[in-house]
Amino acid sequence: MVEQNKFIPLTRPDIREEDISLVVEVLKSGMLVQGKHVLDFEDKAKKFTKSTYNIAVSNGTASLHLALKALNIGIGDEVIVPAFSYIASANVVELVGAKPVFVDISLDSFTIDADSIENAITSKTKAIMPVHEFGLCVDMDKVNELAKQHSLFIIEDSACALGATYKGKAAGSIGHFGSFSLHPRKAITSGEGGLVTTNDKDLDAKIRTLRNHGIDFENPTEFSDAGYNYRLTDFQAALVSSQLNRFSETLKYKRELASIYLENVISEHIVLPKTFSDREHTWQTFHILTESNEYRKGLISHLKSHNIQTNYGAQCIPHMKFYAEKYGYNALKEFPNAYRAYSTGLALPLYELLTKEDILRISNSINQYRS
Ligand SMILES: *Cc1c(COP(=O)(O)O)cnc(C)c1O
Repeated sequence: MVEQNKFIPLTRPDIREEDISLVVEVLKSGMLVQGKHVLDFEDKAKKFTKSTYNIAVSNGTASLHLALKALNIGIGDEVIVPAFSYIASANVVELVGAKPVFVDISLDSFTIDADSIENAITSKTKAIMPVHEFGLCVDMDKVNELAKQHSLFIIEDSACALGATYKGKAAGSIGHFGSFSLHPRKAITSGEGGLVTTNDKDLDAKIRTLRNHGIDFENPTEFSDAGYNYRLTDFQAALVSSQLNRFSETLKYKRELASIYLENVISEHIVLPKTFSDREHTWQTFHILTESNEYRKGLISHLKSHNIQTNYGAQCIPHMKFYAEKYGYNALKEFPNAYRAYSTGLALPLYELLTKEDILRISNSINQYRS
């Protein structure tokens, strides 16, 4: 039957009629740039970010960039970044002229190994950027403690972690800034989009100014900073606002799908992602570890022949050409866990449009693979 073998892409956003009609309404209104739907989205996002201030921006990378800028981080400064993440986490540090200092990850969580952070702190360190990779929170108690001890800022790269919690606190609400992405690969999407969160009134004002060309909101004919245009359009905000209306159910459903993988993928060649009783995962990515690079290659083509698309989860950033050449890293030696995750990790499909039967079908295909 065709249905049993239908193509399952790695990801696909769930855009519904109700989302589309709201976008069309905005398009018909002629008011396309940042306006009431952006404000509406910023307000509605609070339910999940649990942060006082929510500022919508043009993408997740812009959001990280603004956070670094608002904290005056730049030339001569260092920012601690996990060695395994999406490359944007490090690129933004380069973008402001600072140096990303990589710390290896823990293979239990695929997030920064909090116990190794202290060794990377120098007199130049200004901030730590914990990345809640794949939607699982970093061990934030340790990060907070170090940040306090050494007077460092914390920017939580929560691109994958809208709705994730750590000891009951929402991802993005724990550090000085949270940063979210609204790219179609993430849980809710505006096509391209991002969100900065903070609980600090002055930092909120700085971000709003920098988002909008450096405008001085007290005196709007004045520009008090050399800012950017990192605004989100109103039709993008409408698209993502509409998805927020059902986001609690989305999270719940994705957690159900993840538990099907956890119960049904059974292979001695694969390590399943661990769960932590003090953290709620968003399962933005269901990321497994395979026994070797060869094994992963074979598994990817096996799944492809079963019409199932998979891909690597994230990069070992110091192994990427730009960073390896600029700083002379030997990633395999210096960041063995990040290298392992990069060379043997695999992201499986997990999103709202999949059924429980789809997840069972993928699990069975994985179990059937013989290298
Ligand atoms: C997706 C992602 C980003 C970048 O977000 P964009 O919206 O694509 O710019 C940054 N960090 C992490 C961890 C991500 O997953």
